[in-house]
Amino acid sequence: MPRNIIQDKCNACGVCYSACPVEAVVKTESKYSIIKEECVDCGTCKRICKEEAVEGKDPIHAGRR
Ligand code: SF4
Ligand code: SF4
Repeated sequence: MPRNIIQDKCNACGVCYSACPVEAVVKTESKYSIIKEECVDCGTCKRICKEEAVEGKDPIHAGRR
C-alpha cells in the first residue's frame, strides 16, 4: 500500500522529500505529497518523519533485521 502524507500533520520540513529513493515525494503548494504510482513502499519516509505525518502500513518484514 503506498504511503500518504497527512497534510494536517506535515510541517513541510522536507526531510522525506530528500530521503525518498525514488523521488515519489513531491512539493505541493505549501507541503509535500506522495505520488502513489511512484512510491515503492520502502517505508523510509514514515520512519524519518518526526511529525508522524506519513501513514501507511509497514512492510511485513519491517521488524526483522
Ligand atoms: S518528513 Fe513529515 S513533516 Fe517533513 S515534509 Fe515529510 S511528511 Fe511533512
Ligand atoms: S515509502 Fe519510500 S518510496 Fe514511498 S514515498 Fe516514502 S520514501 Fe518514497
